[in-house]
Amino acid sequence: MKIVSTVAEVRKYVKEAKKQDKTVGLVPTMGYLHEGHGSLITKARETTDFVVVSIFVNPMQFGPTEDLESYPRDLDKDAAFCESLGADLIFHPEPSEMYHEGFSSFVDMTVLTEELCGLSRPVHFRGVCTVVNKLFNIVTPDYAFFGQKDAQQLAVIKHMVDDLNMDIKIVGCPIVREEDGLAKSSRNTYLSADERKAALILSKSIKLGNETFAAGEKNAKVIIDKMTELINSEPLAKIDYVKIVDRLTMQQIETVDRPALLAIAVYIGKTRLIDNCYLD
Ligand code: AMP
Repeated sequence: MKIVSTVAEVRKYVKEAKKQDKTVGLVPTMGYLHEGHGSLITKARETTDFVVVSIFVNPMQFGPTEDLESYPRDLDKDAAFCESLGADLIFHPEPSEMYHEGFSSFVDMTVLTEELCGLSRPVHFRGVCTVVNKLFNIVTPDYAFFGQKDAQQLAVIKHMVDDLNMDIKIVGCPIVREEDGLAKSSRNTYLSADERKAALILSKSIKLGNETFAAGEKNAKVIIDKMTELINSEPLAKIDYVKIVDRLTMQQIETVDRPALLAIAVYIGKTRLIDNCYLD
């Protein structure tokens, strides 16, 4: 496995792989890797011949008051993890390699980014779409792998690829959870012991919402109210949003009569965590 930090080096290794008729898979990440990222790398390994993992804490997708500086980083540990899963190449650029002086081109999306995290984090998806576009242009993958953990992001990327006629297959991978149900996240490391316990309220409320729907409840408000009550019973939790949206448009719906997404964002202390499930 190689670790490179420049666009030119990535292009060189990908070119070599393609010359040997290898298919190329890309797993974009911000690093501090865990089993959730691992499931994407494993899927990429099974699906493609040359697996590239990008590790880049993308400044453009963080708002001015967000955790860009404190976001956890550990390249050595990440590299060992990627190698153990059979990745071929890690791309770990400095921000200056991705955004040279005078950088002024962006990829922006309407509709799908208006709700959920797009509403709470106004610059987020412009940063995500722009950096993923750049990574697609640099790595030129046949397949790219994204987690359902970030369900809105997955929908946005699929939509972008379709809108802009990119010849890349987007593969969505299920949420990987801790044994007690908490969705794995690099941000879980911010939690104190008490907050870690309190954070279980996210997966518990998602389970409650899913079970309420499975029992026949189609009224979104009824499902959301039940979940809100449960989350509010946890003193360390503060709701950012609890919403049910159409799976394709990411717009809120009142009746769950089509493929939908139940998504929540909750602050546990200062840490903002997300979770979701599909309602079919
Ligand atoms: P991040 O490093 O948080 O930007 O995540 C990189 C990729 O890993 C994204 O496609 C995430 O959706 C995915 N991912 C993060 N956590 C999980 C998880 N618990 N289960 C599945 N995929 C995940």
